[in-house]
Amino acid sequence: MGGDEFQIILPDIDDRGALGDLADKIIQVLSQPYPIGKEHATIGASVGIAIAPYDGINREDLVHSADLALYVSKNGGRGQFRFFTADLKDRAEERRILMEDLREALANDALDLHYQPVVRVEDNMVIGFEALMRWDHPERGPVSPALFIPIAEESNLIIQLGEWALHRACREAAQMPKSITISVNVSALQFTDPTFPETVSGLEPERLELELTESVFMGDSESIDFTFRALKDLGVRLALDDFGTGYSSLSYLRSAPFDKLKVDKSFVDTCTQKDLNSAKIIAAIIGLSNALGMEVVVEGVETLDQLEVVKDMCARFIQGWIYSKAIAIDQVNERLASGEFRIEPDGPDHYRSDRRTVFRRIGIIHQDHRYAGVLRDISRTGARVEGLLGVPIGTQIVLDLGSGQLAVSTVSRSRDAMIWVEFETPLVNDGAGGLCTRHRISPYALAAAGMPLESLPAGNYSMQLIKRDDEGQRKPQFVEVKTPGV
Ligand code: C2E
Ligand code: CA
Ligand code: CA
Repeated sequence: MGGDEFQIILPDIDDRGALGDLADKIIQVLSQPYPIGKEHATIGASVGIAIAPYDGINREDLVHSADLALYVSKNGGRGQFRFFTADLKDRAEERRILMEDLREALANDALDLHYQPVVRVEDNMVIGFEALMRWDHPERGPVSPALFIPIAEESNLIIQLGEWALHRACREAAQMPKSITISVNVSALQFTDPTFPETVSGLEPERLELELTESVFMGDSESIDFTFRALKDLGVRLALDDFGTGYSSLSYLRSAPFDKLKVDKSFVDTCTQKDLNSAKIIAAIIGLSNALGMEVVVEGVETLDQLEVVKDMCARFIQGWIYSKAIAIDQVNERLASGEFRIEPDGPDHYRSDRRTVFRRIGIIHQDHRYAGVLRDISRTGARVEGLLGVPIGTQIVLDLGSGQLAVSTVSRSRDAMIWVEFETPLVNDGAGGLCTRHRISPYALAAAGMPLESLPAGNYSMQLIKRDDEGQRKPQFVEVKTPGV
């Protein structure tokens, strides 16, 4: 399509699970390093997916939808895919506004740093902290850095933001005991800025650790080497963050002077599941780091059963909610002033799969009635929904999740107006950290039910459109309960 843009047309696939897997595979294959003489070059790939007839019923609309999805996918960072959804346009606008608010927050000193303890497993001693940015938005409340950092990375704002965090963390760490190390996250864009090493100052270098992700290797290899050397000359420590999630090329470890690897939380999330290899991968990463003389921190340990597994793998350092979330500087200083800072591990026994807490208006369809409900949390396999009273266990319902997504479900538990359901077909990854149904109702089916033919608009679908042949209205079987705040 352009210098570096390609179009792939696949006939007769509308399964978003299969398409997501395919997109992942394409990204993976394209992202292998290419040898060029003695050097190697790495390129990334982003994928935007639009599906006919849902996202466009003619060529122009479909390509336009795929384009928008691609745009959002690129902004989400390298190596991702996105499905088109009707709200992408609004989201682009929302990100623009958030970026302006963030700029203002930085200018008005409205950002904060919190510190998450890194704990030595053997004696529960806190040996250091990772500085994590916090933003309490005047209207929205706390905004996650997982949301605003990628937005800042769309412009130079990340460079100022990163510099602010670095200086703030160094200043605050300078007041802590000398034995405490501080880790600061450095965005790839910040790292590739040639003036970056000059901004690294303010703390004894051996107490400062910079956390980089593999994306730093995407830049020009000469300037990368220069920056690595400059940082090593300063004497700061370097950690490779989120290890195992990217391309994890071992050549990075050979060519770059890392002192530490951080095992990504995603391995910990699944390390207690016998059928997955996560626990073995954690063990392998720990073994690899030992062999290379690097330290390892295992990140994201939340539960006691995960702690057991990770301990069995001989992990020496852990950073996770099982010990502590990130805490404000006053709390840090208070604990440090009281002498030794030790934390006993404490948390739930087991990990609750991938359940996400949400608060979203949805439709609940039962027989020929459509009720309004609120989605409270959702995982691949089920959901918790509020809004209907007295639904017996075993009742078959359909959740209307919007944009033509219908999930056939069975009620597995119910208490007051809250029901727990299991999906007949598990949801799939939507590429954006969320979940979606594999299939959607076709706009042709909607048109046949009397709606004008167009690609799927956002929002919920009314009963008349979903059910074609009316068997005659029955009385609603359940009582709908209004949820406050929605
Ligand atoms: P990260 O660098 O991987 O930081 C670890 C994230 O995992 C933090 O999320 C932390 O709160 C979270 N975490 C730690 N233990 C657990 C656990 O047991 N369970 C769960 N569920 N989460 C845990 P946070 O603070 O939301 O930050 C998200 C990401 O935002 C960070 O991921 C990092 O990539 C980015 N970020 C945060 N502050 C900065 C910054 O100052 N500069 C840059 N460039 N990025 C930052
Ligand atoms: Ca980090
Ligand atoms: Ca991490």
